[in-house]
Amino acid sequence: MAPLNDQLLAALTEKLGTDNPKMQLLSQLLAQQQLSENENGNDKRAGQVKKLAQSVQELKKQVAALKKQRSKLVEYLDFFINVNAIFASAVGACECWGGDDGCEKCRGKGKPGYYVPNQEAFQVYVQPSLKHQSAES
Ligand SMILES: [Zn+2]
Repeated sequence: MAPLNDQLLAALTEKLGTDNPKMQLLSQLLAQQQLSENENGNDKRAGQVKKLAQSVQELKKQVAALKKQRSKLVEYLDFFINVNAIFASAVGACECWGGDDGCEKCRGKGKPGYYVPNQEAFQVYVQPSLKHQSAES
């Protein structure tokens, strides 16, 4: 807009001269219009910056929540990795339960009974279950 106004003003100045009162009034009006447009532009930009800042805050909250969730999931995963290792050892199985041909420990052969069961883990996790079963039958 400003370049067009500048061109128009320059053309009129050339025709009417700078001393012409109408020319001076027009020049003032155009200058005011330009100021107003700049202020509107600044307001618009300030609004955009405010919206972006709100988005950043919202994203920061989401990232914090996701980090917390991830931390909890890692905690659960560690717990279940431990449970799996203890229970597999209780029945003499590999931690992959013989289901992974690429397993470096057993090459997919580590089903229950493949290894000598860990006696302590067997007594804690398997024996009580066997006693319960023989009581029912
Ligand atoms: Zn294995």
